[in-house]
Amino acid sequence: MITDKKTAIEIQRATQSKISEIDFSNLDFGNVFTDHMLECDYKDGKWQTLKIRPYGPISLDPSAKVFHYGQAIFEGMKAYKGDDDSIWMFRPDENQKRLNTSAVRLAIPEFPKDLFFDGLETLLNIEKDWIQKEEGSSLYIRPFVIATESGVSANPAKEYKFMILCSPAQSYYSGEVRVLFADTYSRSASGGVGFAKCAGNYAGQFYPTKLANDAGYQQVVWTDASTHENLEEAGTMNVFFRIGDTLITAPTSDRILDGVTRKSVLALAEDKGLQVEVRTISVYEIEAAAKAGTLKEMFGAGTAAVINPIVGFNFQGVDYELPKSENSYADYFKKAITDIQTKKSEDKFGWTYKVRNL
Ligand SMILES: *Cc1c(COP(=O)(O)O)cnc(C)c1O
Repeated sequence: MITDKKTAIEIQRATQSKISEIDFSNLDFGNVFTDHMLECDYKDGKWQTLKIRPYGPISLDPSAKVFHYGQAIFEGMKAYKGDDDSIWMFRPDENQKRLNTSAVRLAIPEFPKDLFFDGLETLLNIEKDWIQKEEGSSLYIRPFVIATESGVSANPAKEYKFMILCSPAQSYYSGEVRVLFADTYSRSASGGVGFAKCAGNYAGQFYPTKLANDAGYQQVVWTDASTHENLEEAGTMNVFFRIGDTLITAPTSDRILDGVTRKSVLALAEDKGLQVEVRTISVYEIEAAAKAGTLKEMFGAGTAAVINPIVGFNFQGVDYELPKSENSYADYFKKAITDIQTKKSEDKFGWTYKVRNL
């Protein structure tokens, strides 16, 4: 048991590390996990002792409420290793806060900040060999909470499990991304859970996304559920448009996830003195700009890929290709953000967080 920090954590070490079996130059995103995981149960009205134990299956009653009513929320963040072996994270306080924003909306008890950071940083210290220094390498971190109480009565659970899993990652290249502007299905609605990082938002978009994939589009850009006229987000990424030299993105609302990458892009754009508009974007405006040749770029922003350029879109059955742009904003933001994340450039925003040596 560690006593040199506020939170007591029970640690059971893996008898043998799997690390020598891993080919770090050939990782499939999110499919390889480190040797340990963090676990904390909520019962009798409070979060119990944090535990770190060897990565492996958990056992739940088949009537556990998460299986029936979908009380499940998650986060996604990354850790990096500096040349001096120090470990860094990018704006983890934002993820910690957002986990609790999601928790409140799903009637899940909030997870205390000190438990979050003490648990996370202890786990990262144990797993630090899994964070590689190579360009583009990081450790993807997946905190999540599920309702574990047994019983199929439809009401919020009284028992939950918070966990953190870690998965080594390389820089993420998804190939050329073409998107479909949604005109039938919706991801979220006003008053709903679109702003929460909850499992159900993903379950609900898999089927329409599969239809889009089958038609040759990698992602759907969701539009507002009532008119399908205003572009909102891509469901795993927030979306930016560049018309002329103006950068445009939709305002956050209860239908849109308030992405950390989106926020960072906006701050960097402002810092660079770019023309930025955070406003409603009509599909017709983007269609007209594409026809006029003034739509220069579209890109997604999210933790996994950081910036994901979009090369074309389909709206009401018509395909539009974007020109190859010089002085691409997407390239600029990707480099600016990853340079800050990996300590290659000065962090004047105070976004990087040095993991404590717990
Ligand atoms: C996680 C997520 C994003 C991106 O958020 P980041 O904090 O930048 O990783 C965007 N949209 C949805 C629906 C998401 O779940």
